[in-house]
Amino acid sequence: MRTWKWILTAALLASISVTTISAAAQQAADAQPSAQPSAPDATQTAQPSSAAPAPSTPAAQTAPTQVSQPAPEQQVPAAQPAAAPAAAPTTMDQVVNLFIQREHGLIKMLSNRTPVVETYLQNLTNDAQLGPVPSADHYFLGRMDMGESVDRKDYLKEQETGFQTRLMGGFQKLFKVQYQPLGFSWMVYADRTDFDREHYDFHYIRREFLGDVRTLVFDVTPKKSAGRGRFLGRVWVEDQAYNIVRLNGTYFPAPRNSFFFHMDSWRLNLIPGYWVPSYIYSEEGDFSAGVKNKQAFKAQTRIWGYDLKKGDKDDELTQIRVDSVKDDSPTAQDASPLQAEREWQQQAEDNVVERLTRAGLLAPAGDLDRILQTVVNNLEVTNNIDLPRPVRTRVLLTSPLETFSVGNTIVISRGLVDVLPDEASLAAVLSHELAHIVLGHNLGSKFAFNDRMLFSDEGTYQNLGFKHIPEEEQAADKKAVELLKNSPYAQKLDNVGLFLKALQLRAGSLSALLTTHLGNPLAEGGTVNRLSALATQGPALDNNKLDQIAALPLGGRVKVNPWDDKAEMVKAAPVAITSARDKMPFEVTPFYPRLARFGTNVAPNAAPTTAAANSGN
Ligand SMILES: [Zn+2]
Repeated sequence: MRTWKWILTAALLASISVTTISAAAQQAADAQPSAQPSAPDATQTAQPSSAAPAPSTPAAQTAPTQVSQPAPEQQVPAAQPAAAPAAAPTTMDQVVNLFIQREHGLIKMLSNRTPVVETYLQNLTNDAQLGPVPSADHYFLGRMDMGESVDRKDYLKEQETGFQTRLMGGFQKLFKVQYQPLGFSWMVYADRTDFDREHYDFHYIRREFLGDVRTLVFDVTPKKSAGRGRFLGRVWVEDQAYNIVRLNGTYFPAPRNSFFFHMDSWRLNLIPGYWVPSYIYSEEGDFSAGVKNKQAFKAQTRIWGYDLKKGDKDDELTQIRVDSVKDDSPTAQDASPLQAEREWQQQAEDNVVERLTRAGLLAPAGDLDRILQTVVNNLEVTNNIDLPRPVRTRVLLTSPLETFSVGNTIVISRGLVDVLPDEASLAAVLSHELAHIVLGHNLGSKFAFNDRMLFSDEGTYQNLGFKHIPEEEQAADKKAVELLKNSPYAQKLDNVGLFLKALQLRAGSLSALLTTHLGNPLAEGGTVNRLSALATQGPALDNNKLDQIAALPLGGRVKVNPWDDKAEMVKAAPVAITSARDKMPFEVTPFYPRLARFGTNVAPNAAPTTAAANSGN
């Protein structure tokens, strides 16, 4: 009776497994029709339509409208706000006033938040066949204080030295060429302190759909006298409450010996009335003939954990929770020694899971776990594994590829789920951790002492760790292969071999992606050591075989809600790969979230991140 269950997931995953790259083309298609859907524009919500060129002219990009600045009489910045929700603006000037005001409202609303910010950057080098490919990478993870002066605290110790400059106090200051983690978080806002008509000109461009959301597009340029480091680019403003939903551009002018990155910043409507900064894509570099640019890179910044509690001490120590006291043992006896040992391990496991969740590093239990658990269950059932407690799974919200286990909980990182090409590969990486559990390689019982849970969120990586000794690693790998060979995945281990080969190929240049923070690394010193018995399995890697997908780009499978950290599996329709350059294993791509308004149930294939440079471009 349990066996049908794995067939079900197999099917479930199969549909996903086809490939990620999907979202891209679909979005590209979305972008097209957007500019001119003038007819529905006019009808629904009468608003800014009256402004001018918008509704009637299908080619909305005609006259750039009078929006710009020459509206000094519109000096009613304070008067306007009160009317905001009801009165629809009738001119583009009023629209500008509204989104400036909404931007200030957002800055205020988020000022007591300290979300997690992750930036993953890949330096690029040109490959004759594959185009720009990663040559090195960098990883930053921190908490961002969105108060008065935006600031970051890093989870990763080694970053602190380069970081101790404490950088700028606020957004208006400048940063240098070096990859400063804060630099990538800049574009959460266009201009934190001076986003107004005194410093900027605004030019209406056209209407455009971003996903399900109709937007008005404005170019934003700093005035001559505005000073350095001002936002220069374009904003997309949704047409109901006039919140900025996307920013794209850079800062200008740059100081000498420095430059500002180009960024594309997306917001999601995760709570009523506000669109919160969620994804930022940055890219620099040019590989066209004749150009010599050493600064080529692409980077993804993700922000989540907006709803996390601020980790101040008072809060930490008053979080005493009295769970319902239950005595479910039929013979109210003391625990036997073995029972006591298990209780103790369970307590440690619960502590760790709770602490990691509170630090914004673990997604709360959810739908994605059900899929992962089914895969684990498939391995268990077919191997007749009967554990005293069920194995649970959780998703680590970060990009580096890692798994670890604590007690009976297997943790797998979002980045790793993203890049795995199919269910068999997922089963393979989970089987290693299941093997640790089956073999009793339990780590972490020391975390049953609650004092060991009292540390700052940023201190998580210094205080927690679940690395096994090499002997246990080898034993787990051996056992894992055994488990796999008895499982429904036995016939698909060629795919696992291919994945390991693809990983090996990039292991030397992606050391940051392969640097684990809590568990054992999949590769060390540029050599993949996980499941090495399967590494030679399957065919050779072949870029020319377009149907051979050994590993996926980052960001295509798991969608995280930046407000509450819930993670779900993306069901994006497959997009055909048309050249070897479309494969992009382990690579960073631009973001193209399908925007939707809060509460509107997003279509099942509402793609999250991912997008691919179309081969045509
Ligand atoms: Zn291990």
